[in-house]
Amino acid sequence: MISAIFTPEFERLWRTRSILVWCEKCAWRTFRTTQEKKARARQRTPAQERHASHDDGSKTHSKNIAAVLPDLKVAFLTHTGDTTEQEENANGEGGLMKILRPSVMAAREWFKERDPEEWRRIRKQALERDGYTCVYCALSCRRFMQVNHIGAEDDHRLENLETVCPACHSVMHLGINTLQGVITLFECKPALTNMAEIVCATRSMVNKGYDWDEIEVHTYGQFRRTAGRIYEKADSLAIANQLVSSIQAPDFRAYLPEGLAVVFHEEGTWNNFLERTWKWQCITGSRYRKEPRS
Ligand SMILES: [Zn+2]
Repeated sequence: MISAIFTPEFERLWRTRSILVWCEKCAWRTFRTTQEKKARARQRTPAQERHASHDDGSKTHSKNIAAVLPDLKVAFLTHTGDTTEQEENANGEGGLMKILRPSVMAAREWFKERDPEEWRRIRKQALERDGYTCVYCALSCRRFMQVNHIGAEDDHRLENLETVCPACHSVMHLGINTLQGVITLFECKPALTNMAEIVCATRSMVNKGYDWDEIEVHTYGQFRRTAGRIYEKADSLAIANQLVSSIQAPDFRAYLPEGLAVVFHEEGTWNNFLERTWKWQCITGSRYRKEPRS
């Protein structure tokens, strides 16, 4: 008997518990829960003091984001991965990109607390080491890139961290993204084993201004196997729940079996940024570090 973990109640928790706060002016950012917010209100860090000193109370300014958008979803949670596989990261000269596989993370790793100051510092080191380049799809961009934990969520050593773009990161967290209707599953051609191909194809279509109905049709056209099943949200979610329930310690993740692939659906804006800006990174200065696999 499999008990569902990715449920509407979980989605509510996800939406209300975690907030990414981000300042446009000084790049100050923090990841906090409502409980943390109360505790830290009385105890500012030096970065927060600097940030507060130029806070003019504008609506886009971080101080007010939580009030303006109480259900803002978190933009970069960091997570766990499987350390036993894959090749070199994008950092190595001519190194192979890592294979992107749809996965879910063990529930015991969710919501681990961390020191925001320390995390900001280490996170930046990881981004700089990787040249702000996603280790899966090779997209390079100074903004909106995220940092993923390869293994334990509370192991912040650099060797446990990797730079990822928001799109690839969402594939690594199938459960929450399926729950939110951002990703569903379909039966793909056997040759498709690296979801970075889907990410790159989707990004290209977003960049060209295709609407989301067209993107979905083209994705199936290019990657679906003959008469392959297209899963609705509920069935995709059932698979994600089954996967997350199957994880046994010491594993951190479970992976979608080969033969199944992800299709992206419209997610919409975040923090007033258009989806094509923050998630698909169709912005000035973004580029592939090397040619993505086609
Ligand atoms: Zn990527």
